[in-house]
Amino acid sequence: MKTLAFCFAFFALGAPAQAQRTVIHADRVLDGRGGTLHNVTIVVEGSRIARIETAQAGRFPADYELGTLTLLPGLIDGHSHLAWYFNRKGRLHTSDDGDTPAESILAAAGNAYATLLAGFTTVQSPGSPEDKDLRDWIASGAIPGPRVLTSLEPLSDARLSPDSLRLLVRERKKQGADLIKIFASKSIREGGAATMSAEQMDAMCGEARAQGLRTLVHAHSTESMERAIHAGCTQIEHGVFATDSVLAEMAAKKVYFDPQCGLVFHNYLDNRAKYDGIGNYNAEGFAAMERAIPLAQNVFRRAMATRYLKVVFGTDAVAGAHGRNAEELVCRVKEGKQTPMKAIISATSLAAEALGMQTTIGTIAPGYEADIIGVDGDASADITALQRVRFVMKGGKVYSVLPRR
Ligand SMILES: [Zn+2]
Repeated sequence: MKTLAFCFAFFALGAPAQAQRTVIHADRVLDGRGGTLHNVTIVVEGSRIARIETAQAGRFPADYELGTLTLLPGLIDGHSHLAWYFNRKGRLHTSDDGDTPAESILAAAGNAYATLLAGFTTVQSPGSPEDKDLRDWIASGAIPGPRVLTSLEPLSDARLSPDSLRLLVRERKKQGADLIKIFASKSIREGGAATMSAEQMDAMCGEARAQGLRTLVHAHSTESMERAIHAGCTQIEHGVFATDSVLAEMAAKKVYFDPQCGLVFHNYLDNRAKYDGIGNYNAEGFAAMERAIPLAQNVFRRAMATRYLKVVFGTDAVAGAHGRNAEELVCRVKEGKQTPMKAIISATSLAAEALGMQTTIGTIAPGYEADIIGVDGDASADITALQRVRFVMKGGKVYSVLPRR
């Protein structure tokens, strides 16, 4: 009886002595902040990194000897729609296609697993109501997947008054949203013009700030981007028509920018037959997306050249793109002229900062969550190494160990 009481007291204090220890060794570690370490032993206790030792081989015998793999923090995708999938007919799932809720959530769980195996240990979804259950089931450890943050249903109805929009922000918070997603402009398939007024933007981003929530804003036209910046919104997505002055303004106001280079466009074009004829996925919409590719890559290169602008990583992964997330990083380096190390930082420590999680994820250092991936090749020299993920650990748990090819 006494022993039992002692045990309870011990657990109540969160006794670290009980944590399971896992030791990993590899020749090279990229820490996610731009640093490179060699001959590294990482000691993981429970879900966290307890210590890191270099050139001390043997002190802690490795449970996972990963040799020439390069280790880096689990990647973070700031914009992924896990709930989007192709249905049994091979078409984009829509709410009226006859799929059952069970089919839809299983498809989302499959997308989450594919994303995790591709080395992405955290994603932000902007967003769908079903994200909440997916987020919570993954967090419980019941199913494999990346850590999920979600906006739940986005705010997109420009007919609503500023007061009604404020109410919606508070409602999302009550429903359990981690952030607020706002559509400030039309889709690129419809020209991308501003939909929300300055007053509406001020109301949504102002209320979210008051509630302690970040705001992620879909905006293409310069007008819609400027309204988001002036409203104090946290981050702007896409921005295909961003001018140099808008980019400079974002940098001055410390607004994060997440432009896309290629994956989202190429995925739509690769899977055209599966989208064609649904909503604005029509001839005009596809032509607009094809025209947008060079514009988007031009914006990306100008964003790279804008001093102090925080360019973060987000793919806008939809049906067909889950598990291919790293293709966007390859595009950013090859077409967007980002250095591989900067691309890696944008998807690790900087991405974590944009999520407000810079003290827990996105960096390989003692005290951080043990989100660690291993890739075949030196990703800081060859970004395509991120497409050869051979080891995935999230929160101290190993999900995948593959042989080198
Ligand atoms: Zn999106």
